[in-house]
Amino acid sequence: MSHDCLFCKIASGEMNTEFLFENDNLVVFRDINPEAPVHLLIVPKRHVRSVNDITDAEQMLIGEMVMVAKEMAKREGVNDSGYRLQTNVEKGGGQVIFHLHMHLLGGWGR
Ligand code: 5GP
Ligand code: ZN
Repeated sequence: MSHDCLFCKIASGEMNTEFLFENDNLVVFRDINPEAPVHLLIVPKRHVRSVNDITDAEQMLIGEMVMVAKEMAKREGVNDSGYRLQTNVEKGGGQVIFHLHMHLLGGWGR
């Protein structure tokens, strides 16, 4: 764990953030500054900086992030109306928190 990383702190439970989902590898919580009616963040517990830093051994983690996002879309009631999964990579790609995460955005026009 990287001690100056906000998402490491959140994922380890240090920040008292409410988790909508948690397992051994991932947590899901609501974005503090939502850009859609439903805006969740799917975050691995292990510190990985971005998609650029995913190793072959971590391929499974990405698959799991998508599967959990799919389940969360269902729970939030946006699976039929549709949603967007977005991962920003590095500054030029809009990444602000340098701990890998996937945005789940949806709920427009429900
Ligand atoms: P990025 O631009 O790095 O892909 O997205 C980072 C996201 O994290 C932003 O949408 C921002 O609103 C969210 N965020 C930043 N700090 C916090 C926080 O302390 N708690 C929560 N729940 N979300 C945060
Ligand atoms: Zn981290």
